Amino acid sequence: MISSDLLNIIVCPGCGSALREKDGGLQCTECKNVYPVEDGIPVLLVDRAKKTSR
Ligand SMILES: [Zn+2]
Repeated sequence: MISSDLLNIIVCPGCGSALREKDGGLQCTECKNVYPVEDGIPVLLVDRAKKTSR
């Protein structure tokens, strides 16, 4: 689980938009990339993002 404090300060490394929790990862509200969360740490790397259909 990601704290809302953390969600407020981290942004998508691809486009700089806000992220929200989705299916155990973090999804960008703009480009829809989903970043994994490992041991409670968000992995904010474009290389690791799961692209989803728009
Ligand atoms: Zn994005």
